[in-house]
This record gives sequence, C-alpha cells and structure tokens, in this order.
Amino acid sequence: MRVLVTGGAGYIGTHTLLELVAAGHEPFVVDNFENASPRALARVGELIQRPIPHATCDVRDRSTLTEIFEDIRPEAVIHFAGLKAVGESEERPRDYYDVNVAGTLTLLAAMEAVDCARIVFSSSATVYGAPDYLPYDEAHPTRPLSVYAKTKLMAEDILRDWHSAHPQSAVLLLRYFNPVGAHISGRIGEDPQGWPNNLMPFITQVAVGRRDKLMVFGDDYDTPDGTGVRDYIHVVDLARAHVAALTHAEKTPGAEVINIGTGQGYSVLEMIRAFEAATGLEIPHEIAPRREGDIAAMQADVRRAETLLGWRARHGLAEMMASAWGWQSANPQGYTTDN
Ligand code: NAD
Ligand code: UDP
Repeated sequence: MRVLVTGGAGYIGTHTLLELVAAGHEPFVVDNFENASPRALARVGELIQRPIPHATCDVRDRSTLTEIFEDIRPEAVIHFAGLKAVGESEERPRDYYDVNVAGTLTLLAAMEAVDCARIVFSSSATVYGAPDYLPYDEAHPTRPLSVYAKTKLMAEDILRDWHSAHPQSAVLLLRYFNPVGAHISGRIGEDPQGWPNNLMPFITQVAVGRRDKLMVFGDDYDTPDGTGVRDYIHVVDLARAHVAALTHAEKTPGAEVINIGTGQGYSVLEMIRAFEAATGLEIPHEIAPRREGDIAAMQADVRRAETLLGWRARHGLAEMMASAWGWQSANPQGYTTDN
C-alpha cells in the first residue's frame, strides 16, 4: 500500500520505514524535523538503496498537509508525529495538546479529503496510569497521570469517535510499552537531543563516555530488587507490529486498541546487568531518589496482538542490548557523528 508516515524520521519511524519497504509497501514521510535529523532518512535510504520520499511539513499545517495527501493519495497512514517527553509535557501543555491532539485532528481532515480511511496510531502504555492489576490488558482502566498521557488518550478517543462516524474505516491504536535497541546495521537508532529522559539511551551514553554515571531512580519499590520494572521491546519488533497492523487494516474495518510489548518485565538493575553482559562494559551507577510520577512496574498482556494481528515480539534482551550498543558505539554523537 501507499502509506503516509507522519514522524517517519524519528526513532520508531525510521525503523518502521525499513520494515514497510521490506513488506512491499511504499512509504511517504511527513516530518517537521523538530526532533529528528534529515540524516536519519538519508541513512534509511542508504539501507534500502533508494531515497525515501518525504516532505518537510508540520502535521498542524492543514493546507500543506491536504495538498500532500492530494498528491500522494495514501491508502493508509501511520501517525508517529508527536511530542513525547513526559516531564516537558507538564511545562509546555499547550504545545503538547496542540501537536498531539490538534495535529491528529488536522491529519484526519487531510485523510477525509482523499477518502483515506486506515490509520495506525502511536499510543502509549502510559495511558493506563497506576495499575489495578498486572499485566495490563486493553480493558484495564485508563487514568493518565501526565499531560503527555492525557494527549495520547484524547487522540485515541478522537480516532475511536471518527471510526464510529466512518464505520468502514480501520483505526488501530497501538499502545507501545518501552521501545529500545536499534537496527542490526547500526546505521539508525535512538538519538535523543540533550539530556536523555529514558533509561536505555542513558545507559548507552554512559557506556560511550558522554555521561559519567547512571542514576537509578529508586531501589525501594515493591519489585523483586526494589528498582522499577518495565516491559522493554526491541524497536524492530515494534516496527514489525506496524506492518502487521497495516495488513489487518487493509482487510478489516474497526477500531482496536492493542498492547505492543513482550509481556516480560525487567528491572533497572537487570537492564544494567544485561547491557554489561552483552557488551563486556561496566556501567557506573548510583542509587538516587525515586523520580516523581514513576510507577513501580508495568507489563503488557500481549495476547490481543497475537490473536488479532498474528504478531509477537521475537527479540530478547541480549539482542536489545547488543543492537543499542552497535548503534551508539558507531555513532557516539548520534546523527551528528560524521560517518
Ligand atoms: P521521535 O521524537 O523520535 O519521533 C517523532 C517524530 O515526529 C520526529 O521525527 C519529529 O521530528 C516528528 N514531529 C514532532 N512534531 C511534529 C509535528 N508537529 N509535525 C510533524 N512532525 C513532527 O519519537 P519516537 O520515539 O519515534 O516516537 C514516535 C511516536 O511513538 C510518538 O508519537 C510517541 O509519543 C510514541 N511513543 C513513543 C514511545 C517511546 O518510548 N519512544 C513510547 C510510546 C509511544
Ligand atoms: N530510570 C532510571 N534512571 C534513568 C532513567 C530511567 O533509573 O536515568 C528508570 C525509571 O525510573 C524507570 C525505568 O528506568 O523505572 C524506565 O524509565 P524510562 O524513562 O525509560 O521509561 P518509562 O518510565 O517512561 O516507562
């Protein structure tokens, strides 16, 4: 299918482009490069040996976006574009609602203009909030704790209502758990700007010498070793989930919420040990106070993804670690590394 990919130059987007092309789809990227480098798309082009067609455009720019849709006539959309830093969302709520919620509305208007009725949306497990039970299944209540999480849930609601009004449409709301790792080539990967918010890029930046040590946020949680537990998923598995979602959307109208994780939780200390085992490096770390707003543990019930999409994660922790290091060690400064 012709697939318009918003935010396709970002971390998950670039990995998904490779899987889309491998599956025979024709992606077209719309990105404003607010949190991505054009070099990322160039690297994807290098890997597939042809350029990735793209336009520099903000998803809130309705007239330009509609022109692009009229030109490309996509049969489906994958909507990655968004702002994603939880802490920042509390400081810049208007920007987060504008990009993540208003941007989704603008996108729907552009889709309607060309009768495009299939969309795969990047939602997040953070919409669940504090767990009533684990693993979270899709029926778990949603109680978003941050502005970021609220924007994701609002966008989900908008897309669900849009489906109700367009019953022939296919809306797949993928609730990602914690994507980590990189493509096996080491040519694309996660390249956070400034201070990394997430655990995995922090570990790799310590390993490459950009940071002195990792602060472990709390060791007094109600988890086996006291540190926070998350369901980490290899980004290539996550990318493949989008291809499976498109296959489903191609044939089946409906609106579905689907967890995308591995079903397996690991603690911060287990992550450090797994990285050290995969790379032979040592990660200096120190126990620090809990991070505000953190919850002890999150884990996905992944049965719906398997039943509905025939998809499940295949990569284990060692591959997540080795590939994250493959990317960071070859690109110590991310996409600004000259190679
Ligand atoms: P990313 O920041 O690497 O990618 C987002 C892309 O969107 C970037 O290329 C950025 O330049 C672009 N973008 C931002 N605002 C835009 C706008 N107004 N118009 C056009 N393009 C814009 O992030 P990612 O990790 O690849 O995440 C992709 C999506 O998945 C996001 O919506 C994010 O909220 C969601 N998500 C990410 C995670 C995670 O841990 N990485 C977890 C759950 C959900
Ligand atoms: N974490 C940590 N040090 C860091 C970054 C994260 O100890 O520098 C912990 C965090 O408290 C959580 C886990 O690592 O228990 C995953 O955090 P991340 O921000 O990557 O994901 P999220 O909390 O958003 O699921």
